[in-house]
Amino acid sequence: MSKVTKVLFLLFLLLSPYLLNADGHIFVYHRFDDNRYPTTNISTKELRKEFNYLKTHHYKVVPLIEIVNKINAKEEVPSNWVAFSIDDGFKSFYTNGLAVFKEYNYPFTLFIAVKYTDKKYKDYVSWKQLKTIAKYGSVEFHSYGHGHYGQMNNEKIKADIDKGLALMKKHLNYKPSLFVYPYGEYDNRVAKVLDSYNFQAVFNQNIGAMNGSCTDVNDIDRSALVGSNAHDFKLYLRFQELCGVHFKQPSVYPKNKTIKTVEVTLDDKNITSADIFISNNGWTKVKVKNGKILWHANKHIKLDRIKIGVKVKSKIKLMVLSK
Ligand SMILES: [Zn+2]
Repeated sequence: MSKVTKVLFLLFLLLSPYLLNADGHIFVYHRFDDNRYPTTNISTKELRKEFNYLKTHHYKVVPLIEIVNKINAKEEVPSNWVAFSIDDGFKSFYTNGLAVFKEYNYPFTLFIAVKYTDKKYKDYVSWKQLKTIAKYGSVEFHSYGHGHYGQMNNEKIKADIDKGLALMKKHLNYKPSLFVYPYGEYDNRVAKVLDSYNFQAVFNQNIGAMNGSCTDVNDIDRSALVGSNAHDFKLYLRFQELCGVHFKQPSVYPKNKTIKTVEVTLDDKNITSADIFISNNGWTKVKVKNGKILWHANKHIKLDRIKIGVKVKSKIKLMVLSK
């Protein structure tokens, strides 16, 4: 190796953590410093740790809409871009979380379940507090009643959306342009109902990343930083989106709660090995033949919401099946 090549190679190694961390990332929080609900909570101490990490590693925290614009334009989402979303509109964001976002000058998008605010539920932000919050970030839509859309018929889903939109118009005076599925639950039928509302983007709650060339703007991944998952922050930042994944089986929530076979096809026919994720079962290494994964999993799952995922090195894609 010549001296110049050696120097270049060393420089590459030095920079590689930045160069290899491709794809932008969106994270979701729920409650802040609220120890009553550990599985949906993050402490502001942990939050500061994450924000400090982003600062020292030169990440750029952008408003969520900037990532949406990139995806809509089919442009690359810069690898150092991160956006934050906060779901449900818990009061603890207003009382504990907001100050930290302000301190770091980080933008955020708060997705509210309108009913909780409108009916003045004790644990949720008021319309007045939302106006204060809107000075520092954006307030968007997470349904009216936070119901399980997968279990509601089309008319009920539409009535729920219409009611929420009307109340946001009445109290905040605008039509939100971004939507998050309650519980991150959706299927093709639910997605079709959402289509008719022309939101600029619709978000799920699956771990993943944004790749301008293949991310579906109506099915954008967000990684939750709550409970013990908050510690996986750095791992999530390393994930890239696995493009060209087609989940074939199971296609609906299994009635007997048993996942017999997982069938997935991949557009990239050169992949020979992958890892498959099933909720509560972690990752299992599987063989890929000519772009096809056929794994006889035989896993019994007790959850009402099952995530299935594929990982090839650091590239990842998950989906959800709900009861
Ligand atoms: Zn929610």
